[in-house]
Amino acid sequence: MDTHTGTISKSGLNVLKPEDNFRFFCHNTLDCFTRCCHDTTIFLTPYDIIRIKTALGVSSGEFLHKYTVTLIGDLGLPIVVLKMNDDKQKSCPFVTPDGCTIYQDRPWSCRIYPLQPETTKITERAGKKYYSIMNIPFCRGLSEDKVVTVTEWKKEQGIPVYEEMEQLIKKITMSELFSSQKIVNKKIQEMYYMACYDLDRFRRFVFESKFLQLFETDPETVEKMKYDDLELYRFAMKWLEYGLLGQHVLKLKPEVIKAKKEQLRFK
Ligand code: SF4
Ligand code: SF4
Repeated sequence: MDTHTGTISKSGLNVLKPEDNFRFFCHNTLDCFTRCCHDTTIFLTPYDIIRIKTALGVSSGEFLHKYTVTLIGDLGLPIVVLKMNDDKQKSCPFVTPDGCTIYQDRPWSCRIYPLQPETTKITERAGKKYYSIMNIPFCRGLSEDKVVTVTEWKKEQGIPVYEEMEQLIKKITMSELFSSQKIVNKKIQEMYYMACYDLDRFRRFVFESKFLQLFETDPETVEKMKYDDLELYRFAMKWLEYGLLGQHVLKLKPEVIKAKKEQLRFK
């Protein structure tokens, strides 16, 4: 029996479309159970961090400090990775012999496995999604008999809300701006890190600085942002679109524009 259907691409990779299927069944009687939760690189999305820090009942700052390391990616923007424990097996901080202690809120990459996205900017912009199967030799789940389509798997694993949230940040990372230049400015990197990953700090920035005196904001949204992380995240992404891409998704108050013009006149 084949392990999966799909199309062989030019690179020789078996590429799966949403309707294609693959064999996979992960369960706790397999001898590889939790082996994949050791010595692995798990990139965290902004939505992963909202889910996990809420599940743990800690602030974004505490979570980032205790559980993550930050790298700078190809675009020059910060990327957050889950920090494995400093033990012999480099265990994930959330793994136990009984499984994942944050299972309901586990990261996107733990959910989507064994699929991995095979997208490019072109397929992404066309709204097409392709996947391949990760080749992990010790993973017994790939030899089980259960067959599932890509769409079924994503639904079963609660992926749609993660994709919806990821679209907001992709408006920035997929921008043409980054095909020609890499961010090297530390202040911009810091601004991006705060808006994407350290939402509790971004909340303080909005409410404890002059921010709300500068920008036109809808009072209902402002009220929600005080306690609703998703509302705050949506706003943070707009702020990045405004600040990084120059999109007119936020508006300065007329009196602020007038004062700036006056300032320029007297320079
Ligand atoms: S079947 Fe694969 S995913 Fe499941 S525990 Fe084993 S190695 Fe991990
Ligand atoms: S977060 Fe959970 S599922 Fe993901 S590697 Fe850690 S223990 Fe495993």
